[in-house]
Amino acid sequence: MQELAEISGEKINDCYQCGKCTAACPVNPFMDILPHQVLRLLQLGQVEQVLQSKTIWVCATCFTCAGRCPRDVDLSVVMEALRAILLRQRGGSRLKGEDMPCLIRKGMPEQGIVSGFRKYTK
Ligand code: SF4
Ligand code: SF4
Repeated sequence: MQELAEISGEKINDCYQCGKCTAACPVNPFMDILPHQVLRLLQLGQVEQVLQSKTIWVCATCFTCAGRCPRDVDLSVVMEALRAILLRQRGGSRLKGEDMPCLIRKGMPEQGIVSGFRKYTK
């Protein structure tokens, strides 16, 4: 939790479970833990359960939840911090520089490639 707070800079305990983030999230049908539930589990110290979830990888970092939160909790940053914690633990690189020309030829948008680096470089 300390590492999560340091990386994200977010005040997780400010969340009062209104659910607006979940209601607005465009990919919530594909998540196994809904966005507001992620915050609740973290408030309860259940970090491992969240780290094992599909949700942190399904999150598209679209920032919609951050824009809707009445408590100014930026869940997209929290998701990013959770991924960073896992990636640091795992080590090793899954996406190599030589893969990039192939991805570009396949027509993947540059923004997708850049955001993919945050998830798949380790
Ligand atoms: S919108 Fe904000 S306060 Fe409401 S559940 Fe989501 S993170 Fe918590
Ligand atoms: S940043 Fe992630 S959790 Fe927030 S609305 Fe977008 S996809 Fe959902």
